[in-house]
Amino acid sequence: MPPETAPDTPQELAQPLAEPLPPVQLDALKAVAAGLDRAATQMDAQDIVAAALAGPWAGEIAVVSSFGAEAAVLLHMVARARPAAPVLFIDTRLLFPETLAYQQQLATYLGLQDVRILRARHLDLAWQDSSGQLHRSDPDACCTLRKTAPLDAALAGFDGWITGRKRHQSGSRAALPHVETDGTRLKINPLARWSAQQIATYLDTHALPRHPLVAQGYPSIGCAPCTSPVRPGEDPRAGRWRNREKEECGIHILDGRIVRSPATKAEPTGPTR
Ligand code: SF4
Repeated sequence: MPPETAPDTPQELAQPLAEPLPPVQLDALKAVAAGLDRAATQMDAQDIVAAALAGPWAGEIAVVSSFGAEAAVLLHMVARARPAAPVLFIDTRLLFPETLAYQQQLATYLGLQDVRILRARHLDLAWQDSSGQLHRSDPDACCTLRKTAPLDAALAGFDGWITGRKRHQSGSRAALPHVETDGTRLKINPLARWSAQQIATYLDTHALPRHPLVAQGYPSIGCAPCTSPVRPGEDPRAGRWRNREKEECGIHILDGRIVRSPATKAEPTGPTR
């Protein structure tokens, strides 16, 4: 039975996340990531995806996708390289209904064979966010509960994961490498150097289905309570956590340590989720 009074401090809301590697192992992982990153700079995005999903290049790799505004580009490359690759989709239970419909439509269209839907356990939600309003009082804790903890659990057993992040998306991603670490695993960003124009051209060239909210002014799409339309001239991610000092999912990996602190829009950060 959940307690009568839910905890309300960040410390009490802490999630059981994977322990970061000891320094020696982390240094070794960073060296592997740096070597792969150097190799990746000579490869195009499709080749990085194919190499990562083929096996020995980086080990057992999963794909993580939000099925958001630009997700079709990476997922199209995945489908071309290995349609049976595991694709992890985090359903926070606070997504737009359009995202849930688009997830099914796009996965079917591309022939993705192993889409795994991740959700926080009902017991954890009842204990930590019974009102569904944690995103208002502590969005970092909410992201940890609904995104990071389920993802951490699902990534157990994988050597790394592929993301669709790009340098152009925000200031904190401006120096995004092709291969980095999250403190425990490799994190591969095949589209790191792609521009917004390249993304748009790829979507058009391959006539890929678009997320329906893009046409309604949402160039970046997360959970419904934390996403608003973007006005002309604004940063594409300006609608994410608008008016809040937050621009990523709340868990920051700095030198292999998980740091749960608010990320200000101007603050340089380490790799984030
Ligand atoms: S984006 Fe908002 S609603 Fe979604 S998990 Fe993070 S804080 Fe919660």
